Amino acid sequence: MDRLAENLALVKARMARAAHAGGRDPADLRLVAVSKGQPAAAIRALHAAGQRDFGENYLQEALGNIAVLEGAAGLCWHYIGAIQSNKTAAIARHFAWVQSVERGKIARRLAAQRPPDYPPLNLCIQVNMDGEPGKAGVEPAGVAELAALIAELPRVRLRGLMFIPRPAADMAGQVRGCQRAAALFAELRAQYPAVDTLSLGMSADLEAAVQAGSSMLRIGTALFGARSG
Ligand SMILES: *Cc1c(COP(=O)(O)O)cnc(C)c1O
Repeated sequence: MDRLAENLALVKARMARAAHAGGRDPADLRLVAVSKGQPAAAIRALHAAGQRDFGENYLQEALGNIAVLEGAAGLCWHYIGAIQSNKTAAIARHFAWVQSVERGKIARRLAAQRPPDYPPLNLCIQVNMDGEPGKAGVEPAGVAELAALIAELPRVRLRGLMFIPRPAADMAGQVRGCQRAAALFAELRAQYPAVDTLSLGMSADLEAAVQAGSSMLRIGTALFGARSG
């Protein structure tokens, strides 16, 4: 499991290099380790190496990991996968963040089902920037309406936007795609000053995302290695 600590150091070094190259402070970048398909032991090893934010795509798998890791200090769980209505109660209870909100109905259910004695549930709207068919997320034109709905809900807090940009042929193209995401984020933030999270950047486009202004990276492969399934 030393390999995981090494990978974490490498990813943090990439983040720091990208931040410095863009004149940004690495402390303004938050790293979410995407642990889908990983055994709890791998999550524990990264936690021992200092990692605190973990992202999960599949509820059943996530609930297993969350149960095994219970009691580990400072863990913060992010739900980043597709959400069916019948899963919202468990998601609202077991996660601190939900980054994959794309429907008002789901946002309403999460708010209604967040236990009232818990801190507010942090929400990001997932955006399908290019309207790619079959891809999750609201189209850019739908962000304002969904944001307005979320802003009125109790027990949840609108924190920002989440993107999975289309892969580009080269770094310049990747940066341009990320900049379009960042521009949409800037529009939202102008309207909601409490919005502070641009969740953008995965293993392959980390540098482009940081250059464009990402505040939260969601990294799987570069931390855990290639997924088998
Ligand atoms: C899997 C996944 C990631 C991590 O992707 P890698 O390329 O493995 O770093 C990030 N965000 C979401 C929504 C994912 O599903």
